[in-house]
Amino acid sequence: MNLNKHPGKLFIISGPSGAGKGTIAKRILEETELEFSVSMTTRSPREGEIDGVHYYFVDEEAFLKNIEEDGFLEHAEVYGKRYGTPKGPILERLEKGTDVLLDIEMQGALQVKEKYPEGVFIFILPPSMAELRKRLTGRGTESPEAIEMRLSKTLSEIEYVDKYDYLVVNGVLEEAVNRVKAIIIAEHSKVTVTPEELIREYTKGEEK
Ligand code: ADP
Ligand code: 5GP
Repeated sequence: MNLNKHPGKLFIISGPSGAGKGTIAKRILEETELEFSVSMTTRSPREGEIDGVHYYFVDEEAFLKNIEEDGFLEHAEVYGKRYGTPKGPILERLEKGTDVLLDIEMQGALQVKEKYPEGVFIFILPPSMAELRKRLTGRGTESPEAIEMRLSKTLSEIEYVDKYDYLVVNGVLEEAVNRVKAIIIAEHSKVTVTPEELIREYTKGEEK
């Protein structure tokens, strides 16, 4: 029995492109109770990506309509394409007590921090710039120019590290995944209950 109250928590994984956010997020979704927030984007699907699972793939018009209707918790333009986090499904899940995971880039994470400061902000970083270059090249989804653009953006992103609650260096994947899981457990172990509530729960069954 857990005596602490457990409201749903919003976990935000963020950091430079190629840091391993997607890889870590996938493992967390497989191995914990967290549910993924499916973003909306105007970019085209990559091979194997499914509409409604990895992203909602929409055109510019549908994206703009959602902005007008105040449907996003945050939205940003990344390398010429739009990305946004639909607000409704997140709030519904948090109210039900379900934890939600966001995998978003930094501009978006900072907007979420403004609107929802009680979120848990986790910055993911590879062990070095050289390793990041290697991983981006290995992933093979971007041209050499696009890789250089992502690398040069990394240093400006690191300047915002102090806006985050946690820094996880993604060297050995297994260790990084364990660290994120430890953060989730620690966040749920924070005291959220009042002494009165705790005494009431703790002494249940003792009344004569
Ligand atoms: P992001 O979502 O942050 O852009 P990805 O999850 O796509 O990053 O990871 C970038 C590349 O690095 C992928 O090819 C992925 O398989 C690889 N990768 C991720 N984590 C590690 C790790 N700990 N060690 C080695 N390669 C990794
Ligand atoms: P990709 O096109 O490689 O899937 O994602 C590019 C970048 O956009 C990644 O850094 C990813 O974390 C980020 N991203 C994905 N969804 C969202 C979102 O809803 N909002 C913001 N701001 N960034 C997102």
